[in-house]
Amino acid sequence: MPLRRLVVSTALMASVVFLTFAALVISGRLPVWPAVVACLVVVGLHALLLRAFLDGLTRIRTGVEEILVEPERAVPVVRSSSPAVNDLWLAIMRLTRAWRHRIRGLEIELAGSNAVLAALPDPLILVNERREVVRQNAAAQALFGDHVLRRDLAVALRQPTLLAAVDAVVAGGGGRLVEFELTSPVERHMTARIDPLPARTEDGVILLVSLHDLTSAKRAEQMRADFVANASHELRTPLSTLVGFIETLQGPASDDEEARVKFLAIMQQQASRMARLIEDLLSLSRIEMNEHQPPTTPIAVVAVLRHVGQTLEMKAAARGMPIEYDIADEQAQVVADADELAQLFQNLIDNAIKYARPDTAITIGVGPSRRFKDGLAIKVRDRGEGIPRTHLPRLTERFYRVDTARSREMGGTGLGLAIVKHIISRHRGLLEVDSEMGEGTTFTVHLRGSMPGAAALPPPAPKSDENRVIG
Ligand code: ADP
Repeated sequence: MPLRRLVVSTALMASVVFLTFAALVISGRLPVWPAVVACLVVVGLHALLLRAFLDGLTRIRTGVEEILVEPERAVPVVRSSSPAVNDLWLAIMRLTRAWRHRIRGLEIELAGSNAVLAALPDPLILVNERREVVRQNAAAQALFGDHVLRRDLAVALRQPTLLAAVDAVVAGGGGRLVEFELTSPVERHMTARIDPLPARTEDGVILLVSLHDLTSAKRAEQMRADFVANASHELRTPLSTLVGFIETLQGPASDDEEARVKFLAIMQQQASRMARLIEDLLSLSRIEMNEHQPPTTPIAVVAVLRHVGQTLEMKAAARGMPIEYDIADEQAQVVADADELAQLFQNLIDNAIKYARPDTAITIGVGPSRRFKDGLAIKVRDRGEGIPRTHLPRLTERFYRVDTARSREMGGTGLGLAIVKHIISRHRGLLEVDSEMGEGTTFTVHLRGSMPGAAALPPPAPKSDENRVIG
């Protein structure tokens, strides 16, 4: 404790007593010497009292400074002969404990918020008032890389609408939402929410840009709209034919027996087309609904295949097409849904009958899969004209046809291979299509022998002259 402070404080406190004694001496009521002695006693007593008090205050100041330098260290002990100093130190200790508790709470809260920020699947960018990227979460880092940090937001997102909105928020405007398209590395539809923070953070962040990728949602929306448009078009065509014939039969041809027989046959054909379409649409939605649940029952595949082959034998025979079998193991089993498996084979064999040249054989083969260990490869091979390479990747799309007129003429709905694809996907299998122009087409379905840990084999090297697609 500095001596000067003690002297000044003592002098100040004792000044009233000095003045009183001085007045008494001057007025002659007190002799000089007793007054001097009394003054010295008073000064001594004040100095003693003040020394303890000031000493305690100095220790408190040192203790508080130690806590500020090292907030986590143990609270130093301050004891003084002055009760006021001890009480003050106790209050400071309580304040320190409450302060530490609050800081710990805030640290936990901050760690939680940072973890949430990092784990958010949507990219988040924190921006300062110079529009620089100060921080970003893992999703944004994956999208833009680390080089955007400490640089203008325009380096990551060169989007005039977005940048204008950010500038407006920097200038003090409220939060806003903008929609824009990214063209590289791949085309994406995005929305960005720009929100000002309630207060500027220590590292200068004043606003938050959160991005949301709308690409899948937009694509799904487009697919749904296309599907509805296609399905209604497919239904409307036979329906308008039916309405047309009904009107003709009710009007001009009401008494024409020959026309009636002819038209009724066409009407029946169109009604069956509508029924087939509705049936296929229902199958597709049923399969899609269960697609997340793979089947669990082992099924003897060859029996299912032979049964389907038998039901289609007449149709094949009508086009002079024998159905031949090339079966490696009659007892072969796969984990499958028997009804869906039958529908899958039915669609593939039916297509072979519809699209291959008349008087050629259809071969159904069963052998080990090159794709799944212990799996089976089921092949349906025809000797048709083949499918041009450009069409192969889109064959399993709903309503996609190589030759629409031929498909309609053969009673096709355009949904057969889409159904095949979804059944295979539910079975966690694979579809391969090999086609050579003028030679024919082979659809190969790879199914797993046992569902859970069935391992996939490395993909076989493709034959160079092959026209093939794998899905
Ligand atoms: P569709 O009801 O028209 O047969 P699919 O979805 O079953 O519909 O088949 C889609 C298209 O793929 C068919 O329209 C046809 O053009 C072509 N296709 C399917 N299987 C064969 C095949 N074995 N040979 C040639 N083309 C085929």
